[in-house]
Amino acid sequence: MSLHSVVIVGAGQAGFQVAASLRQAGFAGAVTLIGDEGEVPYQRPPLTKAYLLGKIGVDALRYRKREFFVENRIELLQDAAAAIDRTNHRVILNSGSAVAYDHLVLAVGAHNRSLPVPGIELDGTFGLRTLRDADALAVRLKQASTVTVIGAGFIGLEFAAVAAARGMAVHVIELGSRVMARAVSAETSELFRVAHTAWGVTIDFKQGLVCIEGDQGKVTAIRTTDQRRLPTDLVVFGVGVLPNVTLATEAGLDIENGIRVDTDLLTSDPSITAIGDCASFPSRHSQDRVRLESVQNAVDQARCVAARLSGKSAPYAAVPWFWTDQQDLMLQIAGLQDGHDSTVALGSAASRKMSVLCFRRNHLVAVESVNRPADHMAARKLLTRAPTLTPAQASADDFDLKTFESATR
Ligand SMILES: Cc1cc2nc3c(=O)[nH]c(=O)nc-3n(C[C@H](O)[C@H](O)[C@H](O)COP(=O)(O)OP(=O)(O)OC[C@H]3O[C@@H](n4cnc5c(N)ncnc54)[C@H](O)[C@@H]3O)c2cc1C
Repeated sequence: MSLHSVVIVGAGQAGFQVAASLRQAGFAGAVTLIGDEGEVPYQRPPLTKAYLLGKIGVDALRYRKREFFVENRIELLQDAAAAIDRTNHRVILNSGSAVAYDHLVLAVGAHNRSLPVPGIELDGTFGLRTLRDADALAVRLKQASTVTVIGAGFIGLEFAAVAAARGMAVHVIELGSRVMARAVSAETSELFRVAHTAWGVTIDFKQGLVCIEGDQGKVTAIRTTDQRRLPTDLVVFGVGVLPNVTLATEAGLDIENGIRVDTDLLTSDPSITAIGDCASFPSRHSQDRVRLESVQNAVDQARCVAARLSGKSAPYAAVPWFWTDQQDLMLQIAGLQDGHDSTVALGSAASRKMSVLCFRRNHLVAVESVNRPADHMAARKLLTRAPTLTPAQASADDFDLKTFESATR
């Protein structure tokens, strides 16, 4: 069936990319991109990095200027999708109007998880997901001297690195026993813990937040589960995100840790696709169905869908990769390390140039590279095929990942 109209809900990384890639692929039908942030689509990663440090302005965040959308006949609707009428193939908007689709793409992303602790409503508590969040936080950072970060995941640590670079006293509270534990090996966690400590960041492990205290409506301190009171000007939450599934749930689509899709990224309704942070999919790079929160995943899934809708269908199989920048450390991760049972480190943590190769049952499943971009590029190539590398081979004194990758091509 030839498609006349594609409607995309969510004008973030994935939604923007589907629209742009459809036009690049020569799709001639109508493309409508519905976004509820009131912004020309922009990228989020710099919000905790260069943008928050004031090194780049808002224009540098935008994927394209407004004219791009006009020139490429992408109708950018600043509205929120309120419901999906699957019977009549229509999206109902908050404003009350409706948009008809032949195919619908849900690229609705995720929202910050919040903690139901007393004091959460006080002035001086922040999440960090949107441009609006970053702008509000940037203003308050200028007046603050002490910040507390709840959660030592990527967002929390990126923010902590920025705040420390600005000379602030930074305290991180983490429930687990190491940093970025959900996403990296123990070796990489330790390198980052040591670096943050050297930058002046205090990290408290196995500590929860009990409440936030305030005076005249403003944050003054937090209390931790070990009964301490830590005075602070700001509290920044980095305790993870939850996929936006309300629209899909109410439309009766299957949900499983996000909107459930198959290897073609189709939902339980073959006229609806879901991609990016909101979608869980079967991945050949993991033992389980996964939902990934990364630029690569959003972009590659968007490209895969645009190709399918333009007549070139192929299952989604891209190697997952991710990066985070924290002061002078650039961590790049290729593959998924979940369930790994052995590691081999190349380089050294002391030199802050290290790659950790993660193996599951003697198969290479992920490579975490700190300031070793050549290893990262080699790993991405290697993981596209079933790599034969064993821990014993990688442990040899003269082992080099790039050389191994080109020799086994
Ligand atoms: C501060 C920050 C730093 C990050 N740093 C990195 C990094 O260094 N490396 C990396 O790989 N990834 C990073 N990420 C993650 C990356 O930005 C996300 O994985 C990516 O943005 C996901 O794209 P998406 O399109 O799925 O979701 P989003 O970009 O969140 O876009 C979803 C959009 O849909 C809109 N929406 C939701 N519901 C509706 C509705 N009903 N109607 C209309 N619109 C709706 C939302 O408002 C949003 O604009 C970072 C994220 C954040 C927040």
